[in-house]
Amino acid sequence: MKLASFDRGRLGVVHDDRIIEISDLVPLPAGFWPPVGMVKLIAEFATLKPRIEDAASTRKSVPLASVRLEAPVQWPNKLIAYPANYHAHALEMRSTYRANTRGFFLKANSCISGPADPIVLPAIKGPEIHHECELAIFIGRGGRGISLTDAMDHIFGYACLMDMTVRGEQERVMRKSFDTFCPIGPYIVTADEISDPANLDLQLTVNGAVKQKANTNDLILDIPNMIVMASSVMTLYPGDIIATGTPEGVGPLAAGDEVTIRIAEVGAMTLPVVQGAIGDNLAFQTK
Ligand code: MN
Repeated sequence: MKLASFDRGRLGVVHDDRIIEISDLVPLPAGFWPPVGMVKLIAEFATLKPRIEDAASTRKSVPLASVRLEAPVQWPNKLIAYPANYHAHALEMRSTYRANTRGFFLKANSCISGPADPIVLPAIKGPEIHHECELAIFIGRGGRGISLTDAMDHIFGYACLMDMTVRGEQERVMRKSFDTFCPIGPYIVTADEISDPANLDLQLTVNGAVKQKANTNDLILDIPNMIVMASSVMTLYPGDIIATGTPEGVGPLAAGDEVTIRIAEVGAMTLPVVQGAIGDNLAFQTK
C-alpha cells in the first residue's frame, strides 16, 4: 500500500498514477494542526487497514497529478539520522568513525518538506550545501529496547529522503536543520510491498547527471541494527523517521539545480533548488 499526504493534511492511498482520499477514516478534521493525521493512521493501522483497503477498492480516485503531495509524515515525534553509514561515503568525508561506532543524531522535525516543495538554500556565504541521498524508514509499532529479532516488525514503511547538509564545523543539528533540509516522499510504501529493504538500488541525479548510485546492501549498520540502537536510547513512536545514511557521491547544490532521488520499489521525486533570503548567523560568519 502507498500512503500519501496531500493538499494541506489530507490523506490518500496511491494506486498507479491516481489517489483515493481516506482522510475521513482518521478521526481528525482535515487540515487539523498540528498535521498529525498520518501519525495517527500509522498508530491505528491495524484497525484501519481493512477500511482503507475497502475505500481503495470502492471509492472514486483522482489523478495523482491533480493534487499537491506533501511530506507523508510532517509531525513525527523525532527524525533520527545515521552518519557515515556507507564505507565509501565515510572515506570521501575522511570520517574517523562509522555509524556503528558513533551512533545517530537528530534533525529538527521542522526541516521536513515534501515532494512538491523546493529545497531552499540558506543565505550563507562560503560553505558548500550538499545533497545526501537516503532511504527513509517509518516506525510503525513503537517501543524501547527493541531486540534484533523483532526490529523489522517495527517498520511501517519506506520513502525517499534527502538529508541536506551545510558542510562545516558548526554543530551538526544546526547545519542539517534549515527549513526544507529534509525532503521526504513521494509517499510511504508499506513494508509488505518491499521485497528486501537490504537490497534496494538508490540513485540521486543533479540536472540529469548521476551523482550518487548505490545499494542498501552496502549499509554498515544495517536496518534492524539501526532500530536496535535508536530504541536502546529512546522510545520509538509510530511515525518516527530514520534517515539511514548516504552513500558516496555527495556534492554541492546551487540555485537553479534540479535534483532527483529514486529508490527501487519505493519511488522517486524531483525537486527544484532555489536561493533563500534567510539563514546566515554568527556561527557561519566565524571561521
Ligand atoms: Mn545523512
